[in-house]
Amino acid sequence: MKRTKIIDALQCTEYGKDINVKGWVRSHRNSKAVDFIALNDGSTINNIQIVVDPTSMDADTLKSITTGACISVVGTLVQSQGAGQTVEIQSKEIEIYGLCPSDYPMQKKGQSFEYMRKYAHLRLRTNTFGAVFRIRHNMAIAVHKYFHDHGFYYFHTPIITASDAEGAGEMFQVTTLDLSRTGKDDTVPYEKDFFGKKTNLTVSGQLEGELGATALGAIYTFGPTFRAENSNTPRHLAEFWMIEPEVAFLEQDELMDLEEDFIKYCVQWALDNCKDDLEFLNKMIDKTLLETLESVVKERFVRLTYTEGIHILEEAVKQGHQFEFPITGWGMDLSSEHERYLVEEYFKRPVIMTDYPSEIKAFYMKKNADGRTMQGTDVLFPRIGEIIGGSVREESYDKLVAEIKARGMEKDSYSWYLDTRKYGSCPHAGFGLGFERLILFVTGMQNIRDVIPFPRTPKTAEF
Ligand code: ATP
Ligand code: MG
Ligand code: MG
Ligand code: MG
Repeated sequence: MKRTKIIDALQCTEYGKDINVKGWVRSHRNSKAVDFIALNDGSTINNIQIVVDPTSMDADTLKSITTGACISVVGTLVQSQGAGQTVEIQSKEIEIYGLCPSDYPMQKKGQSFEYMRKYAHLRLRTNTFGAVFRIRHNMAIAVHKYFHDHGFYYFHTPIITASDAEGAGEMFQVTTLDLSRTGKDDTVPYEKDFFGKKTNLTVSGQLEGELGATALGAIYTFGPTFRAENSNTPRHLAEFWMIEPEVAFLEQDELMDLEEDFIKYCVQWALDNCKDDLEFLNKMIDKTLLETLESVVKERFVRLTYTEGIHILEEAVKQGHQFEFPITGWGMDLSSEHERYLVEEYFKRPVIMTDYPSEIKAFYMKKNADGRTMQGTDVLFPRIGEIIGGSVREESYDKLVAEIKARGMEKDSYSWYLDTRKYGSCPHAGFGLGFERLILFVTGMQNIRDVIPFPRTPKTAEF
């Protein structure tokens, strides 16, 4: 008999029909006359209830079907008498694919996320992580759909690169390993550069993305990004996914419109396509989740200059608000604590912050006429802080070269990038959004390690 996915079985109204479902046991309880098995196959957060007549099979075999076991059930689809479910299956035959011994680490409900992180390979089978990763999938689809529908080309930038886009030096170096030499001849280096060149894993696809935008008009990248920053925060990973649109002829105001429209589209997509999973997370993780998502798509984001932002923070200090990281005045970089104060307490809405001091931002960002601020457009979000870093790019060859020199960077290693300004330079702008920060916001989860299947951080990269 052909298998029916549980998501489809739960919608089916052909009562009396025999069907076959397969999945993992979420719970098994028994009353005197019947056993109830809650079965889940990953297709939905919802389980289907299997009702088993204990006299229909061997008692020890039935008892061995514990939480986590994998089974196949053939039975009759009937209308359910129980609350909270419309259909159930009256079992006729159960085949056991894999039993699950009692040391199964996910057996107990309500384990802490910290505990579950040790079992990243098994936590996937829990309700919460099932919901999170179905939503993650849906958000990836939303990203592609948005950009495709708006005339952007999906542009692949290299993972191995010689550029340090941010000029921050927080990179993982790439080397080749000559395993045949190990321990035999220590005059030959065991580690070698990438075919004689110093290279690293990309920290951002932006510079290469700009090459695409200045040829194809509008592109976006969506790929893994690596940063060797030793930040053990709930918002940083050493390996994360970044979405980076880059658009020719786009000005600062239009860039802000794009950022706002794009995020709202993604959040609305989740509300439209991930209803059951969001309701589950709203119940289990954050009771204000749905309300927060709905208000973000409705409200206009506040647009505010960095200078105004600093002023608000300084006023807050005067009023007695205490920040863990002190407000040292104009020129300081904001921490997520400051960003969240502006968003959560002051405006109670997302904020797009513009015109930061050039000195705290990357070399490629276009300066304003005042010579000390730049045309940045970072988006700050509740619970997250910075979710997008964006800016208009400097299109003048001479200004860009001067900035590279002023920052003590190697001009020669950017010759390919400078060529976009040398030959037919165009005004353009773009942004980078950390995919996991978007997932954090949409799922209501608290820690970025819990929204990527296999987190890589200074403390977690077990396999
Ligand atoms: P932060 O101030 O939070 O460290 P950033 O300013 O260093 O972020 P950018 O270089 O502007 O980050 O990168 C663009 C976006 O990528 C950020 O707005 C954020 O959403 C995401 N991002 C940056 N670093 C990380 C990281 N280590 N892990 C996950 N996402 C990140
Ligand atoms: Mg950073
Ligand atoms: Mg930042
Ligand atoms: Mg940034």
